[in-house]
Amino acid sequence: MTSGDPGAYSGRMVKASLVWHNGKMIAWEDATVHVLAHALHYGTSVFEGIRCYRTQRGSEVLRLRDHMRRLHQSAKIYRMEIPYDLDELQTASLETIRANRLEHCYIRPLVFRGVGPAGVNPLKNPVESYILAWEWGKYLGDDAIESGVDVCISSWRRAAPDTFPTMAKAGGNYLSSSLVKMEAVLDGYSEGITLDSQGFLSEGSGENVFLFWRDKLWTPPVANAILPGITRDIVITLAQEAGIEVVEQQIPREMLYLADEVFMTGTAAEITPVRSIDHVPVGSGTRGPVTARLQQVFFEYVEGSVDDRFNWMTPVYSEHTVGHEV
Ligand code: PMP
Repeated sequence: MTSGDPGAYSGRMVKASLVWHNGKMIAWEDATVHVLAHALHYGTSVFEGIRCYRTQRGSEVLRLRDHMRRLHQSAKIYRMEIPYDLDELQTASLETIRANRLEHCYIRPLVFRGVGPAGVNPLKNPVESYILAWEWGKYLGDDAIESGVDVCISSWRRAAPDTFPTMAKAGGNYLSSSLVKMEAVLDGYSEGITLDSQGFLSEGSGENVFLFWRDKLWTPPVANAILPGITRDIVITLAQEAGIEVVEQQIPREMLYLADEVFMTGTAAEITPVRSIDHVPVGSGTRGPVTARLQQVFFEYVEGSVDDRFNWMTPVYSEHTVGHEV
């Protein structure tokens, strides 16, 4: 996305044909809910975003079990019992990809409180589980990965720690994210970065944030109202493996303006360089060498041109895909 095209959204979506619902495959068109569904009124859903890559070994899903574990944890925080364990959810995801004959795709498990009592108390509403998979392009634009994106600091803060739990990837949290994203794109930026309730760096509307400054990689800890991103964990692991020191600590806003490099991470955004923040160029205003190096290591990994040395990939179209413990 270029700054001259603020409204453009490049998350191209191609409809698939089958959706997994409570253990059965149903037609895409039948994956509908009644308007009385609790989640529609009160945001009581938890979900995941997972990517399946076309690797040199065939189609493989990145960190599938870890995503399903986070789904279970999000549900636990909201006292929702998912009647499927990690193995079952993994198998169901792979079946959904296969049923739609997808080579590379985005996978969206969604668990929510369905139709039942109309009041706020969700405890008596049934828990519905869905898994969707579809082909999807680059989240922040096709050239964002190389050229970087222009971002702003959002006027919206992340929720205080005793309000909405950010360790849960819950539907309701994305009301905040959509305010951040709308403000950013309507003001001509690709993305908004939020501060937490105390004013320290938190995260983007759908990404974690990293800075390279004084030869170290810095990122806020979980206590700064972030979703503990799985791509964040991947980047920390790959950076440490490459001998880069990673510091997880509270980060004041102005460190973003002083950093040599800034990038955002997420399943959809992968590793996206930030070239300016509030119109202040980051470093030289182009992708920096550390970002480029980490992108290279990341893409080599997920595209399968190197061995799966951390056991992060689950093959889709071969056997031995279940119980793939990471
Ligand atoms: N923060 C938020 C608010 C997000 O929505 C996402 C995307 N899931 C992330 C961070 C990045 O998480 P992950 O790397 O697991 O996709």
